[in-house]
Amino acid sequence: MKPRPIDLYSDTQTRPTAGMRAAMAAAEVGDEQSGDDPTTLRLCAEVAALLGQEAGVFMPSGTMCNLVAILVHTSPGDEVICDHQSHIYGTEAAGAAALAGVSIRALPSPHGIFTARQVADGIRPRARTAPRSALLCVEQTTNFSGGAVWPLAQLREVRDTARGHGLRCHLDGARLLNASAATGIAAADYAAGWDSAWIDLSKGLGCPVGAVLCGSAAFVRDAWQWKYRLGGAMRQSGVLAAAGLYALEHHVARLAADHANALAIWRILSACGLFRFDPPRPDSNILRFTFDAPAVRAEAFAERCLAEGVRVRAIGGNFIRATTHLDVAPREAEQAAHAMVAVARAVAAGA
Ligand SMILES: *Cc1c(COP(=O)(O)O)cnc(C)c1O
Repeated sequence: MKPRPIDLYSDTQTRPTAGMRAAMAAAEVGDEQSGDDPTTLRLCAEVAALLGQEAGVFMPSGTMCNLVAILVHTSPGDEVICDHQSHIYGTEAAGAAALAGVSIRALPSPHGIFTARQVADGIRPRARTAPRSALLCVEQTTNFSGGAVWPLAQLREVRDTARGHGLRCHLDGARLLNASAATGIAAADYAAGWDSAWIDLSKGLGCPVGAVLCGSAAFVRDAWQWKYRLGGAMRQSGVLAAAGLYALEHHVARLAADHANALAIWRILSACGLFRFDPPRPDSNILRFTFDAPAVRAEAFAERCLAEGVRVRAIGGNFIRATTHLDVAPREAEQAAHAMVAVARAVAAGA
């Protein structure tokens, strides 16, 4: 049997550790739908405190966090402003359109980081004929734009601009703790003043499932009703929440190691001169780059890498994304980088 590749496809590829599985097995449980699962309640309280928000609700996925937040904050026919490469716009099977009935105004930007001026220009004047600009959504860190971290000042500027025009503000913090690991700025400082914010447990934190959506008590009450309506209410979810609590205790401080591994890969790939990085240097655990041989598609490059034991992802626009995580050791990161360089050299030489 072939050994498993070094998997840089996504930080969703982690497997729960032995310690996490033990914590899950030992979880105290109850009926989550009735608000009686003590472990889930504890997880929600801990994440709400971490994000400086009043309350939280456990969700099966980050996708449901975004969808429910949009459902709570908007009415059908409203418009949502977000980045043109955001998860809400390009994935999630257009749930915002299909289920919330909103249209999306997608702002172009270099790395998922747009300006307050763009937000101001994107907000439509109230008119009988125009959709109502209702909600601003921002990703911290940006996923398909290459793991970039919004500077705190700019994040506040776009938020204040939106608020000034009466929009609600939603922070897609799938990797918010990666932003904190990169800058030392507390997650609560990033999330302050946002009407809703969430973190994913199944990305860099290494859980098998789950996310926690936070906001005011009134927001969470409405979010709970949508969660139930969409079939997201659970029963003995403490088994899953226990993984989240374990991750908050054991897997947050180590996110910096993922960033160091991303930087190590970047150094090796940069030195060979065959790759172009965008952003020019990774801020967090995501690398986004093109292979500088125009005739070779990202998909073909990814296939060649897989044959050499490294799994990366072609993400469109001929970009390749490589993501470091819990299950990639420093030695494996370097090994993967050297394998990618070997593939690039072979392809560039016409092999
Ligand atoms: C992964 C991701 C989501 C969706 O989270 P799932 O848990 O995979 O449903 C949403 N937004 C961003 C920025 C993400 O990276």
